Amino acid sequence: MPRLVPVEIGEATHLNAIIEGKRAPARPRLRVLKPALETRYIEYAGTTTAFHSLAASTLVGTDAEYCVGCYNLDRPTVAALKRAVLDARPPNRNYLCQWCLIEPWGEMDHYVPKESFPEFAVMARNLAPCCSKCNKAKGDYWPPVGVVPEVLNLYYSSLLDRDHLSAAVTHAPGGASAIQFAIRRDVGLTPAEIATLEVHYARLRLMPRLQDAGISALSRFRHSLRAHGVTRANAVQYLVDEAVGLATAFGANHYEALTATALAAAPAALDDYLA
Ligand SMILES: [Zn+2]
Repeated sequence: MPRLVPVEIGEATHLNAIIEGKRAPARPRLRVLKPALETRYIEYAGTTTAFHSLAASTLVGTDAEYCVGCYNLDRPTVAALKRAVLDARPPNRNYLCQWCLIEPWGEMDHYVPKESFPEFAVMARNLAPCCSKCNKAKGDYWPPVGVVPEVLNLYYSSLLDRDHLSAAVTHAPGGASAIQFAIRRDVGLTPAEIATLEVHYARLRLMPRLQDAGISALSRFRHSLRAHGVTRANAVQYLVDEAVGLATAFGANHYEALTATALAAAPAALDDYLA
């Protein structure tokens, strides 16, 4: 799952439009708070590879409520912000949750939760489209200052760009197939990077979901091998070509690409599928 491209421009413009779209008493108070909010935006932009150093919010009471209240998707100014975030995504992956690449996106996650950091409630680069399962698994989790967040950032984590996931198919002749996904240990990731990825996958509960999706993908490949008249002799090449196409479209860590590669390396499964 390669990184998304953040909306790098127009943060202050969106914030201003959203504030001016509010009514009293929120609007005059938010106008007063705006310079402080913009300062926090700059702090956020400076800590994008070190979120553990982001200072805790000092907003409390009605100030915090007014800031959180800015995130109201019924407002045209907030809808415009959401559209800008959505439009910044790569078009070939724009229907998918970018964390799992399994489900269609349907919700916006505040990477730094708005409950703990009201000042980032309507900051474009703090918003990432994701599916309800990933959003629910992440929840309002945020660590204390100084502790590295367990969930990787969709815009700024370079680990998401690395080929870091593998899959292996096991097959009982005449029986069912199983598939297991794991963080790769053969691609030069440091032990710390491997640990970071494992924590991320565990926090979002991705491995069981990948395994379910992988089983479904195996069924689809089993069907398409037969539907395309693929023989046992050319099955491996067919699956390798499928994997290349899927990885080009969705990234090397996409579960279907990995499933095709794993099935190509599982002769017992292919023998059964094409018997
Ligand atoms: Zn997801």
